[in-house]
Amino acid sequence: MIFYGDSLPAPPDNLTIPQFILDTQYPSQPIRQAHHPWLIEDATGRSYGLQEIRARVQGLASSLKTKFDIQEDDVVCLFSPNHIDYGVVIWATHRLGAIITAANPTFGVEELVYQLKTTRAKVIISHPTSRDVAVEAARLSSIPESHIVYLPQTGAAPLEPYLDDLISEGLQSKPSYVERKLNPGEAKTKLAFYSFSSGTTGKPKAVAIPHYALISNVLQMSKFEGVTDPAYQATVPREQQRFRPGDVAIGVLPFFHIYGLVLKLHWILFSAMSIVVIPKFNYENMLKSIVRHKITHLLLVPPQIVLFCKHPATKNYDLSGLRWVMVGAAPLSSELTLQFQKLVPQAEVNQGYGMTETCTTTTMTPLSQRLGTPGSVGHFLPGVRAKIVKSDGSLAGYDQEGELVVTGPQMTLGYANNAQATKETFVDGWVRTGDEVLVRRNGDIFVVDRLKEIFKVRGFQVAPAELEGHLLDHPDVGDAGVIGVPEEFSGEVAMAFIVLNADAQTRVANDKTGHEKERIREAIIKFVKDSKVQYKWLAGGVEFVDIIPKNPSGKILRRFLREQAKELKVQR
Ligand code: AMP
Repeated sequence: MIFYGDSLPAPPDNLTIPQFILDTQYPSQPIRQAHHPWLIEDATGRSYGLQEIRARVQGLASSLKTKFDIQEDDVVCLFSPNHIDYGVVIWATHRLGAIITAANPTFGVEELVYQLKTTRAKVIISHPTSRDVAVEAARLSSIPESHIVYLPQTGAAPLEPYLDDLISEGLQSKPSYVERKLNPGEAKTKLAFYSFSSGTTGKPKAVAIPHYALISNVLQMSKFEGVTDPAYQATVPREQQRFRPGDVAIGVLPFFHIYGLVLKLHWILFSAMSIVVIPKFNYENMLKSIVRHKITHLLLVPPQIVLFCKHPATKNYDLSGLRWVMVGAAPLSSELTLQFQKLVPQAEVNQGYGMTETCTTTTMTPLSQRLGTPGSVGHFLPGVRAKIVKSDGSLAGYDQEGELVVTGPQMTLGYANNAQATKETFVDGWVRTGDEVLVRRNGDIFVVDRLKEIFKVRGFQVAPAELEGHLLDHPDVGDAGVIGVPEEFSGEVAMAFIVLNADAQTRVANDKTGHEKERIREAIIKFVKDSKVQYKWLAGGVEFVDIIPKNPSGKILRRFLREQAKELKVQR
């Protein structure tokens, strides 16, 4: 059978994202009071309202055009932790008809170069703390150093070219650009972002996200949660509504990831709420921010819920102001949900599920369930159609497991410059999620397993193929297979199975002290640490094996590696 979410009024297909967020009042969109700020800087309390954001967007767009000649479909890489100007950079780029690719600010040089080259980025807007990597990656990607613009850093001298200077210069004269507007239907194909995801297999790829996908997802979530539902607004008293203008949401999950980008930056602002922008996650500091800014809404990942439940500091903070907590990006067990619910009994604790390829959210906890069914990722959003494909290829009904295949207005267009991978995941307008799910008769959806290669460390994707490719560059490695193994805090961590090459095997065999094998193990762990961002490190260890199990066409049989890892855990 095909599963349907509720109906959705057709999203506008002629608006860019900044027009939708900054310039347009959507029918039944909540109205923000003038004194409700849009963005609040956590450390200083400094805030931006709409007029300031629009002016900064205009100034920056002007300077991006005059100084760097940013043209239609050029790519600007945003390489920064969460920052009060994050949205400004995005919307200025969009005003020019150009595309944003947001990168993890803790990436190493190699990782950033991969993203810059894959997207052919022309300019980097970097945080000063990421300067060294930005400069080296730019050099290796043939981007002139003068094309790296630096964001302001509180308490530090500005680095040049400095974003605030560009904004002031841009505002000194009439805009140098003609704002990119869209014809009816054009938003469906006009690209706004290249966000990275590995999909079901292989290395990370640039997901091509049009303006319409993000706008649609914001409207889907808004209808589902009553934000734009006139009937809900008319019948449910304001103080009982889940989202109210003036509510304050936390902006601690990274904006470069699709979850932070779509839900926080855009959906929260569309809902007339304020965002407290937190650049770096630190648990105790986050608790302090919740109290200091009277935060009402949290959007988190499961490891942060583990901290709430287990960290001794939790009891020192008053969490009674929290009203809604959404958890997504990785599985949240029913046990943990129940523990967390006890901690914040006044709050609604919900789960959402989505992926980069579906420009985020496909399911969320419905308004009818104050607490959601523990372990369930909620119901399908309005406008979503879903098939659950069983292993024999037939379609599942209720209570039957299979791969979730979805479509809806929020679908992205595929992987840039990768027709083969696009063909495998984007099939006739439907997206294969690589997740195994089942749907109960009451509409509750459960993610029961992951069929794809990727695994998730603290909500971040790790592509085994990327780590395996890197490990094969190590001089002692003959072959490598990487899997995710369960870990309490991170959800999963990377573990590598390694076949040593002949030379290393001889050294190990001739080594009388027994230290050589350990030395190689340490060297391999360091080899990953030296060039990969922390969540990709081999925290699950390195195991030496004689062979990496593969099928006749050479595909690694990770199922066997997972079984081996389980056995090793039992033995230890
Ligand atoms: P990403 O594209 O990085 O957002 O990763 C998407 C993948 O994260 C999905 O395909 C799922 O495997 C996983 N995921 C996201 N949300 C959830 C959730 N609530 N429960 C279980 N897995 C999830």
